Amino acid sequence: MMQKSTSYFCPSCRATGMSIFYKASNVPANSCMMFSNHEEAVSFPKGNVILGFCESCGFISNVAFDPLKLDYSSLAPEEQGFSGTFNTYAQRLASRLIQNYDLHGKHICEIGCGRGDFLALVCQQDHNYGVGIDPSTVSGGVESEASSRLTFIKDYYSERYANYHGDLVICRHTLEHIHDTADFIGTLRRGIGNKFNTATFFEVPDITRILHEVAFWDIYYEHCSYFTLGSIAKLFRLCNFEITSLTKDYFDQYLLIEAKPVNQKSKIVFENEESVEQTAMDVENFVLHSQEKLSFWKDQLSQIQKKKKKAIVWGSGSKCVGFMTTLGVKEEIEYIVDINPRRHGKFIPGVGKQIVSPEFLKQYRPDTIIVMNPIYCNEIKKMMDDMGVVADYIPCS
Ligand SMILES: [Zn+2]
Repeated sequence: MMQKSTSYFCPSCRATGMSIFYKASNVPANSCMMFSNHEEAVSFPKGNVILGFCESCGFISNVAFDPLKLDYSSLAPEEQGFSGTFNTYAQRLASRLIQNYDLHGKHICEIGCGRGDFLALVCQQDHNYGVGIDPSTVSGGVESEASSRLTFIKDYYSERYANYHGDLVICRHTLEHIHDTADFIGTLRRGIGNKFNTATFFEVPDITRILHEVAFWDIYYEHCSYFTLGSIAKLFRLCNFEITSLTKDYFDQYLLIEAKPVNQKSKIVFENEESVEQTAMDVENFVLHSQEKLSFWKDQLSQIQKKKKKAIVWGSGSKCVGFMTTLGVKEEIEYIVDINPRRHGKFIPGVGKQIVSPEFLKQYRPDTIIVMNPIYCNEIKKMMDDMGVVADYIPCS
């Protein structure tokens, strides 16, 4: 059950008190890391996850988060571009932004751009100019026709880059890594100043789905901030932005918010914003069902071991690390499959299992494939059929 603690305050609305509802101990401090051997992978620093819910704005935060445990500058920039499903989505999103904001010869700034793949997509066809800011970025990391119009700054976003907003600020899958969310959005707003034509676009994972599906594998250390449409909208309004669009996309897994700077608190509230009471109910649901969900998966794992089945997990990203760590997977699963060739042969933090290629399964012949993200099930099945690999599929849902 939820337990209110006044030792914490909400990083989004600054209200005192967070209701604690979920704890996971000794979680790898960064689930995106990969290691060249098992020993390094299991000894990687760990932290605790203690999720608190704000009864004033509906925001959810890891109150035990320590940013010092994370160093994004030593990370290789993340890529998700190996999946057709994901690429189609990124293309569609880029086209939508170009159309909505008439982005031709415009200046675009992307905070948390990674390698710069998305920034390049937005800039390449329409002769836009892009600045990407990210502690893990590398100049020339992305091959694009727009390369000569792209600038990359290897740093964390701060007051120092206030002048880089341009016509559109894009920030995808970054805000969930920021603990002091109001400080971050406030810094951006101060940087934009009175340039009221600057548009902003943010994309973050949706906590509502995680709560509904009791998807404990989607809770990990580097994600210290969890949003609903309602709580992200409140944060933007508190920081003097007016919301112009508020939607879900990518199979309802992501929240998309578009906003423009205003001088005073906007009163525009969208119909799809959840109330704090609704989110409180979703949190209660998560608390109520998380034990049975964990038991279900522990039972699946013991069946695998009892029947001496060969099981693999498909997808070596953060979901997989969250899944394996929370369940304390040992001998039940030996390998993890990933389509990204840069991950092959490496080991994931926490349980320290090795990542292999899909081709490896031709000889390994797994009986069971646990699919971390069910939206890739069809893609995976087709690949396995083509290789003549017959297995049972268990989607994580
Ligand atoms: Zn709050």
